[in-house]
Amino acid sequence: MATIAITETRKLEDYRQAIIHVGSEPKIVNHDMTIEQALDGVTGLLLSGGDDVSPARYNETAHATTGALAPERDEFELALVREARRRNLPIFGICRGLQVMNVAFGGTLIQDIPSQVQGAGEHRFTVPPHLPFELAHEIWIEKDSLLATLLKDRLVDGDSCEVNSRHHQALGRIAPEFRVTATAPDGIVEAIELPNARFCLGVQWHPENFWRTGEFRALFEDFVAAASR
Ligand code: MN
Repeated sequence: MATIAITETRKLEDYRQAIIHVGSEPKIVNHDMTIEQALDGVTGLLLSGGDDVSPARYNETAHATTGALAPERDEFELALVREARRRNLPIFGICRGLQVMNVAFGGTLIQDIPSQVQGAGEHRFTVPPHLPFELAHEIWIEKDSLLATLLKDRLVDGDSCEVNSRHHQALGRIAPEFRVTATAPDGIVEAIELPNARFCLGVQWHPENFWRTGEFRALFEDFVAAASR
């Protein structure tokens, strides 16, 4: 059975349920652990959502809108994802988790979409707590990507699908190794992958919120399948 390390965050329950519902065991990890302790017995890494990554981590000064920072969490997760990659563990990053992946391998972030990206659509939908799965905008998915393969049953016109959206930051410069495999119609990056990895995928939306109804279960199933091999 796969054991998936999930980075601790405030709204943890949906991540836990999404992992449990595809037959895997979650292990919650945080910066009170060493990297060695966090990855002990772990076969896959799920990086959860949360606060903004400190801009110092990608050599920028903080924009006025950059939110609550968690320097210890940044330090822990950046080291964790690098070590997981070194061990060739499957990695799945969600929202902040995608941003952590990009920064860890040399990319940057857009600190605030509304004030820094002209013509951007709305990405920070505030939804009632019981409706976190409300669909918000379309994404366009690159053909011949892992994401396109996994979401093939949900794609409209072969390459688009609707996702939820609760972020004010986004990926800026993409880390050299990664490939962008989904964008919103305004150009905001919604997914990256590491080609030729066992499973190394980051998404900007929140597929974990759909664990009850299964719209994005295929992502968790394939992640856990890779972590079981
Ligand atoms: Mn979005």
